[in-house]
Amino acid sequence: MHAITHVILSVALSYMTGLPLVWVVIGGVFPDIDLLFPEFLSHRVELHSLFIIGIISLVLWKLFNKKAGMGFLLGGTFHVIADLMTYYGVGVFWPFYSKYFAFDLADTVYLDIATILISSFLIINHVKIKETIDSIKKFNYYFISGIAIFFIAVAVFAMPKPIGCPAFPTPLSELLAMNQSYSERYVMLNGTVCSEITRQYYPKSDNTYQIFDICDRNETIAVWKNLDISPSEFKQNDLVYVCGVFTLKYDKPEIYMVRSFGLITEN
Ligand SMILES: [Zn+2]
Repeated sequence: MHAITHVILSVALSYMTGLPLVWVVIGGVFPDIDLLFPEFLSHRVELHSLFIIGIISLVLWKLFNKKAGMGFLLGGTFHVIADLMTYYGVGVFWPFYSKYFAFDLADTVYLDIATILISSFLIINHVKIKETIDSIKKFNYYFISGIAIFFIAVAVFAMPKPIGCPAFPTPLSELLAMNQSYSERYVMLNGTVCSEITRQYYPKSDNTYQIFDICDRNETIAVWKNLDISPSEFKQNDLVYVCGVFTLKYDKPEIYMVRSFGLITEN
């Protein structure tokens, strides 16, 4: 989801609970800092983990005060919940459980619009109740905590997707022959970029992809590499490794959700 969506959602949560605006917004944008450090952090894993967000909240509580910690926790938790609604999903329970969880409710664009509309309604509604009525804030506080617990509990039952990349490549011929057993799992592939490289915008994730074929001996498979998450680009005839999810959801088998990749340098 977009940063602006997380900010507006955080403002609404702060208004509703009376927790400090600045800390809720910081918590609300913090998890996506992982996009700035793709070499060290997987997008939507370490910094989107409720465990890590919880620890940072405790540190802020000790360093500043209880409201700072609670504000960060609220903003961070609802960032994770908002991301859970997308198809890409979140590694909510990292490092204890290495799976992505995803509700895959709708295209990210629609989820952004819905979140902004609901949050704006809540903000306007709150501004109308001019006086700070503590009993309402207290009620909202428990209500919002209930929603958070509900969504995260339901996420456990939503379709989990594996996070980890295998250390060793699977031959493409084996992957295609045993396709059912590899379906929706991370696989490591070695091969040559053997097609023209095209770019395509994909509304489901609101991201642009670099699409190309990888050839390994006589077999070929299409790869969708997300340029918003990993901007470096391959060229035709590069010898590469790619780790992504093998899927049979589309017309032909494909590799998508690529999370690690690079050139194979021959000695
Ligand atoms: Zn995020």
